[in-house]
Amino acid sequence: MLKTHSCGELRLENVGETVTLAGWVNRRRDMGGVVFIDLRDRDGKTQVVVNAGRTAEGFALAEQIRSEYVIQVTGEVSQRPSGQENENIATGDIEVLADEIVVLNPAKNPPFLIDRDEVVDESLRLKYRYLDLRRERLQRNLSIRHKAIKFIRDFLDKRGFLEVETPILFKSTPEGARDYLVPSRVHPGQFYALPQSPQQLKQLLMVAGYERYFQIARCFRDEDLRADRQPEFTQLDMEMSFVERDDILNLIEELMVGMVKHASLVPLAYEEFPRLSYGDVVNRYGTDRPDLRFGLELVDISDIVGSSSFRVFAENVAAGNPVKAICVPGCGDYSRKQLTELEDIAKDAGAKGLAWLAIHPETEEVRGPIAKFFTVEQLIALTEKLEAGPGDLLLISSDTKSVVHEVLHTLRTEMANRLGLTNTNTLAFAWVIDFPLFEEGMEDGHYAPSHHMFTAPKRAHIPLLDSDPGKVLSEQYDLVCNGFEVAGGSIRIHERPLQRKIMELIGFSWEEAEDQFGHMLEAFEYGAPPHGGIAPGVDRLVALMAGEPNIREVMAFPKTAQATDLMASAPSPVVQRQLDELHIALAIKEKEKKA
Ligand code: ASP
Repeated sequence: MLKTHSCGELRLENVGETVTLAGWVNRRRDMGGVVFIDLRDRDGKTQVVVNAGRTAEGFALAEQIRSEYVIQVTGEVSQRPSGQENENIATGDIEVLADEIVVLNPAKNPPFLIDRDEVVDESLRLKYRYLDLRRERLQRNLSIRHKAIKFIRDFLDKRGFLEVETPILFKSTPEGARDYLVPSRVHPGQFYALPQSPQQLKQLLMVAGYERYFQIARCFRDEDLRADRQPEFTQLDMEMSFVERDDILNLIEELMVGMVKHASLVPLAYEEFPRLSYGDVVNRYGTDRPDLRFGLELVDISDIVGSSSFRVFAENVAAGNPVKAICVPGCGDYSRKQLTELEDIAKDAGAKGLAWLAIHPETEEVRGPIAKFFTVEQLIALTEKLEAGPGDLLLISSDTKSVVHEVLHTLRTEMANRLGLTNTNTLAFAWVIDFPLFEEGMEDGHYAPSHHMFTAPKRAHIPLLDSDPGKVLSEQYDLVCNGFEVAGGSIRIHERPLQRKIMELIGFSWEEAEDQFGHMLEAFEYGAPPHGGIAPGVDRLVALMAGEPNIREVMAFPKTAQATDLMASAPSPVVQRQLDELHIALAIKEKEKKA
């Protein structure tokens, strides 16, 4: 080794020892006759003192050294003079008096400062990711990630799980997104698909009798671009045989609690995760990914406003639709401009407009353009039902159920951000259970699975598949945390006839089902055990534990929101020979070509 110790290791008990350190120059201060170098490696920082009297040669070098040079220093560990200790670093009681300095490699001036947590343009950070990764923030995040994954592996190993790798070159797996395809050179015109998840393979491992499988699995989905989406991401993929829903929920809950305690900077709000039905959460929060760090729940006021003289509400209720509201504390003094802003946000979420009522902080008078349509009794009933008090603002949505939910979910999140309710340093997990098997509404006469087509319907609901499939509830479960879905899974179908029936309902012909999933259907005829599984998203969980808003901050080499790698410039064109070998002819329209 080119070093005897790391830069985070030396303490008072090492005083007097001769050591060799190697690392990067974090900072250099020239005090005339003495140069101080903060030497940094992944483990920490150590102050090196280069004194002309001790090493004339070393001093001459130290005067030329710049930030991010890679150097090796041999010297004696010495206690820092009294009053010069640095409490902020672990090695702050000592310094190394240099006897010899070797420059292992000089460095260009970096495009941003490595030793400070300054805001740097993200595209610059991604282009020079290897420099960004030297900074404390990313080192901390990747170490949280490592600790979390290590904890997961140890936890599951102790409980009899086997880690099995599954192929990256596989066949299209239906998880609802577009596949990334890989052309085959040896089979002209044929393609592999990168797995959207190892769903089929983990189920086949259950058929194979493995009983408890997991994998830290890379998944690939070519979905539409969104700020916080990555084309490839990591899941803790799991599957178990002979289990019921609650076995999986209990196990994952224990895993999450243990992992957060072991690796997280952000603590748990509570250790027993509430189990909430899909219907209940959608009604109360307008979404199946509720943020439980705060209230601001949606309240159905149809019964009160349906009989008011405000026609819009009365007619909507008469048509069987809801009118719902949230009560935002302390925002009753919102100006016209602020309310217009909220209305614009509501419109972006699909609303035609936004109704509001504000309660005066002293007189308790209710103001708002629609106030005059309500009787005093109706206003009292409204404030009571919404538990509204002086100074509060009521935001009301009247539309179809799905629009009302989308609009109020959006406003609930917006108001929570404005009131600082989402800044809390806490992780609020919850299970969402009892999902419908199919998405609401049919397309081309077919249903779409709400999770994926391998999810089992509740046993008692199987007869409904013939009479009213839209009403069937499933064995799907999601784990949510702070408004994010952090895991999704289900008890699976393990019988061929039931799997065929679901495929039919979602629109697969007999031939299509056999062609695409013949291997699964056949496997189910060779003794498939009852099984179920789940797949927590590692990137999002680590981001939550690191207090990071974006999953890019917990990935070593992420892509941009446009799915590009700015460091290596990927994706990129390839030479004609490569295309020829793959039997590919490009047909790019002029307007699609990169400028
Ligand atoms: N494969 C599913 C997904 O990625 C999770 C599961 O059902 O286990 O969403």
